[in-house]
Amino acid sequence: MEEIGHFINGKRVAGKSGRTADVFNPATGEVTAKVALASAAELQEAVAIAEKAQIGWGATNPQRRARVMMKFVSLLHRDMDKLASKLSAEHGKTFPDAKGDVIRGLEVAEFCIGAPHMMKGEYTEGAGPGIDMYSMRQPLGVAAGITPFNFPAMIPMWKFCVAIAAGNSFILKPSERDPSVPMMLAELMQEAGLPDGVLNVVNGDKEAVDAILDDPIIQAVGFVGSTAIAEYVYTRGTASGKRVQCFGGAKNHMLIMPDADLDQAADALVGAGFGAAGERCMAISVAVPVGQETADRLIEKLIPRVESLKVGPYTAGDDVDFGPVITPQARERILGLVNSGVEQGANLVVDGRDFKLQGYENGNFIGPCLFDNATKDMDIYKEEIFGPVLTVVRAATYEDAIQLPMEHEYGNGTAIFTRDGDTARDFTNRINIGMVGVNVPIPVPLAYHTFGGWKRSGFGDLNQHGPDGFKFYTRTKTVTSRWPSGVKEGAEFSIPTMG
Ligand code: NAD
Repeated sequence: MEEIGHFINGKRVAGKSGRTADVFNPATGEVTAKVALASAAELQEAVAIAEKAQIGWGATNPQRRARVMMKFVSLLHRDMDKLASKLSAEHGKTFPDAKGDVIRGLEVAEFCIGAPHMMKGEYTEGAGPGIDMYSMRQPLGVAAGITPFNFPAMIPMWKFCVAIAAGNSFILKPSERDPSVPMMLAELMQEAGLPDGVLNVVNGDKEAVDAILDDPIIQAVGFVGSTAIAEYVYTRGTASGKRVQCFGGAKNHMLIMPDADLDQAADALVGAGFGAAGERCMAISVAVPVGQETADRLIEKLIPRVESLKVGPYTAGDDVDFGPVITPQARERILGLVNSGVEQGANLVVDGRDFKLQGYENGNFIGPCLFDNATKDMDIYKEEIFGPVLTVVRAATYEDAIQLPMEHEYGNGTAIFTRDGDTARDFTNRINIGMVGVNVPIPVPLAYHTFGGWKRSGFGDLNQHGPDGFKFYTRTKTVTSRWPSGVKEGAEFSIPTMG
């Protein structure tokens, strides 16, 4: 059985804590590897190595750092299929979707090739007599990232690419559910020319996370995961004086206006609701058709589409629309929520609860579920289900419809489908949610923009990747210089002004 340790100081090392977790193939239920769970002492050892390595890396000119990212991008292309099939085997998502996971991370690496530009400061000549003023962005030192299971390639790259291109060294604590791809990414960064110790992967659970949060050397922590843990990480990390940004759960609504193309809207809902078995923070989990007629027609179009979705292991190739969920516990939780929806009076018009796949009886499969006539007070509406379940909540008017996402505790993503520019403009301006789509169901911003939710989907300042990413992993220093030609004689006792 494969034993996955850590990646420290440029190489794979075995775990020393004696604690491990099983890694499963979610389609078969088989244990495929054991992953080490680091002790606090192991984390501290990695941090000491990262701290040393950062001195040389931070002093390396930004263009040379960018060249490592450039090489990394080409290695990602070279190993794309290998990365994607390992990702599918541990996560369960289809092979094309796994490739998408790698590609969306690769795009952040591409963006980081522009690090020399992002690190540029500002300059004012002649701010006063003989005085020039300039500001520069400098790396923080050692930064850390704690990432979830659902994008084991993309989200680690959101974090370490930006931090490292900015001159920091990095500790990545990936999800213990699918740790292989993050380890492979670290090896590729090394092959691309990254010096030993700049990127370290420390596998683990709460013990490693707490050690990161309490470590006095780590300056910044970027977290992505569920809201309860995001809030915990934010509170504990900031209490120990760190810069922390945490991105949490979601409940993304899509409004469908009466003038929308309903075939397009139904296709978009099925893709965004059931892709990756709904295990995406940008999945659409609530559809809000506006008006009785829109709702009836939409349901009529959704039912056959949802019923014909193909569920299976990634090894079945194109015959599969989505795979299993991550663990048996996740499956039980999702089924429990679906049962609660039935008990609380929603209409389960497509019921995937009894889905079984011959030969894969131990896999964590759930068939697609579609609810109609759900209401705000139901658990299926209030909670993030994170499974293949789409919930339709009918609204009489646009005003009723917009209030639903506005009042929901989460604020990650949302979308509106309409042909009317005025309505789309009103929606995009008023909605209190971080990422908004107009006729786009999963409005995930590209690498050179920034990604982040509002309300209980995001804690802390600044978004991920894009210009915000560089701001998060750097700090600004401002220098004021005066040369003798501008120096007046005698001491000055009042605050200097340019008056
Ligand atoms: P999770 O919160 O269980 O785990 C995330 C990370 O936190 C993992 O590295 C895990 O090891 C660690 N962790 C788990 N329990 C912990 C504890 N008690 N103390 C300290 N650390 C702990 O999340 P998950 O199940 O891996 O991922 C799914 C969640 O992530 C969903 O809620 C999803 O919406 C969210 N997510 C959000 C975004 C976003 O950008 N907003 C993106 C992807 C996923």
